[in-house]
Amino acid sequence: MRKNIVAGNWKMNNDLAETQELISHLKLQMVKEPMAEVYVAPSYVNLYNSFQSLKGTLIKVAAQNMHYAENGAFTGEVSAKMLKSIGVNTVILGHSERRALFNETDELLTKKVDAAIENDMEIIFCFGEELKDRKTEKHFEIVESQLENALFHVDKTSWQNIILAYEPVWAIGTGETASPEQAQEIHQFVRELVSKKFGKEIAQNVSILYGGSVKPNNAAEIFAKEDVDGGLIGGASLNAIDFLTIVNSFE
Ligand code: PEP
Repeated sequence: MRKNIVAGNWKMNNDLAETQELISHLKLQMVKEPMAEVYVAPSYVNLYNSFQSLKGTLIKVAAQNMHYAENGAFTGEVSAKMLKSIGVNTVILGHSERRALFNETDELLTKKVDAAIENDMEIIFCFGEELKDRKTEKHFEIVESQLENALFHVDKTSWQNIILAYEPVWAIGTGETASPEQAQEIHQFVRELVSKKFGKEIAQNVSILYGGSVKPNNAAEIFAKEDVDGGLIGGASLNAIDFLTIVNSFE
């Protein structure tokens, strides 16, 4: 059975004090068992303190990125081994901001995926088309090529550590959300792709999250769609009440 998952991507927001404050609010407000598995992804400098503060809670900590190499002359980068050494076992890869602003290609992402798998890390793999692709009706093609080129080389056993996140670029941080139908259409398509390549069981068990301006007032209708198993949340994850409302927006 696939899991409902809601992950908060805090991006380059919150210094140490603000991170701790948000975590305290999350802990205080999380009064009942959440309806989904919950992750938060703070900045690198706040990963260790966040992990320590969230130990023993139902909130897991993920990294927003990592390098593919184990160590070496890669100034400013962080490896899987380093993340694991502080207790962080999940990494977001392929976020559209990494692709667009930091030139992350499918080739680079393939190496990062391999490094995560070799280090037994869980991956939240993001993919999604830009506005120009949707306008020219190339969204299925783009999504398929992103998955095919950077993720679908993995073996079947790796799927137990893979979470997919469909994030149409035109909906990220823009206030514009894909309609529940648009999300469902792509999620179903992706589940079929996984099924064709890796079999029905893996396709049925993989969680596919939607990301792109999910807010407390639209989460429930998006999450109600059959192939949408939760969300990757940017802006709304910076407020504890909004984020937990989204976490509990499942039927
Ligand atoms: C994201 O950054 O992954 C995201 C979905 O952001 P937002 O919710 O702000 O659109």
